Amino acid sequence: MTIDDRFPTNVHVLRPRKLKLADRLDQFLEEHALDLDDNPMRCDPTRPKGAGVNALSCAACGQPEYLTRDYCRCGHYLRGQLEDEFLAWEGKIHADHDQLVCATEAKMKPLRFIFAASSPFIVVPMLHFAFWADGPSIFPFFWMIFGFALLGATAAIERVLLRALEPSLRLLNSYTFESFVQNRFFRLKVFGP
Ligand SMILES: [Zn+2]
Repeated sequence: MTIDDRFPTNVHVLRPRKLKLADRLDQFLEEHALDLDDNPMRCDPTRPKGAGVNALSCAACGQPEYLTRDYCRCGHYLRGQLEDEFLAWEGKIHADHDQLVCATEAKMKPLRFIFAASSPFIVVPMLHFAFWADGPSIFPFFWMIFGFALLGATAAIERVLLRALEPSLRLLNSYTFESFVQNRFFRLKVFGP
């Protein structure tokens, strides 16, 4: 085998490889997921370490960014993102409260019947004493005691049901955008987004 058999006839006109070092470096970085263009902020030490008490995750680039900054370093309007989150949360707490009020009202409906049913036990013995009583009788007192016991029980149950609304009502009366931002991290940790 001569040297002419092992190489193409135009070996003397073959040009050096077109792939330059810079291109090869790019290719290498891309292949090993080290391409910085895709993720320019990956190792940025000036960014927060992760979404936390003082940071949130940017919806555009996915990088953590400080809550105090209005704009992410990618240009995304973080304040707007936070306000959207706030409005969604605000709608949810109002809807949750309305639902709780409806559920409580549904539970209180039978109580009103009991309340209405207990009044004759009190009113009738009183009328009896006022108009029809001929002499001392103890039975009307028993009826009255029964009526008052029913009334007391319904009032106590009603108070317990209304007390369940208090935390939700307190939240509705006291929340602000600032308090939302302050408690955001803990809420996300406990309840999820
Ligand atoms: Zn961003």
